[in-house]
Amino acid sequence: MTPDSSPDGRLERALACLRGLAVGDALGSQFFVPVNYPLLKRRELPPGPWQWTDDTEMACSVVAVLAAHRRIDQDALAHSFAHHHDFDRGYGPAVNRLLRLVREGGDWRELAAALFDGRGSWGNGAAMRIAPLGAWYADDPEQATHQAEISAYPTHQHREAVVGAMAVSAAAALAAGPGGPPSPEALLDGVIALVPKSAVGAGLRRARDMLDYGDASTVAAVLGCGRRTTAHDTVPFALWSAARSLGDYEQAFWTTAQVGGDVDTTCAIVGGVIAAGKAGTPPASWVEQTEAVPGWVTAVP
Ligand SMILES: [Mg+2]
Repeated sequence: MTPDSSPDGRLERALACLRGLAVGDALGSQFFVPVNYPLLKRRELPPGPWQWTDDTEMACSVVAVLAAHRRIDQDALAHSFAHHHDFDRGYGPAVNRLLRLVREGGDWRELAAALFDGRGSWGNGAAMRIAPLGAWYADDPEQATHQAEISAYPTHQHREAVVGAMAVSAAAALAAGPGGPPSPEALLDGVIALVPKSAVGAGLRRARDMLDYGDASTVAAVLGCGRRTTAHDTVPFALWSAARSLGDYEQAFWTTAQVGGDVDTTCAIVGGVIAAGKAGTPPASWVEQTEAVPGWVTAVP
């Protein structure tokens, strides 16, 4: 069955995806606390409530802009990121400063272009927030990829960060597409076909070649798992993990979290992609422990 392309149908999918992203982010971030390391080994849940971080806060802005504009509007997105920016949610220092300056009236175009000596940020921040956009465009993966490219620029202008966002959005669109979850090979082949040449693209092709590896930590050692918080060190492994567990949120989460690295972000990406598909809803008890998504997301002006 073709995905519902009415605005309500799109928003419903994007919100379901956002919940999956928030659970991955909030639960994943619990495992930065040393007292919880043994729980992660045993796949046991830490006590709630689990607070989400910058990944979810920015994803809320993506969904809010879609709800209001039905596409990505860069100025609205930059404004929403800046307006809702909470310093205590674990943003990187460059984005913290950028969003403060935008809030004070700065031009995001100039500020984002000037980061890192004019190279722009290649951090994983544009990818971590974008799965709900793919869910919104489940009927059109090409548009999901194109809109993701546009969505990256207000904060991340380096090619790798932009392609990282394109890849995650494409993956979420394909996971939410007609006919149930695609095979792992079909998901990664579909994403690879939609993204331009880049280190992220090269990483995705390596990830495709490693789909039959049984040990996630070996794959993470090759592809990276976000320890450098770059897009190319984060997205290939996250999509490898998502591709292998489409339709099984719990399995996807634990596999991703147990390899370590930038766990809130890898789990936010994986949780979003898995929950974009109808069969990938997180367990209700996990959703209950996770901080609720704020009301402003759907409060269309
Ligand atoms: Mg985070």
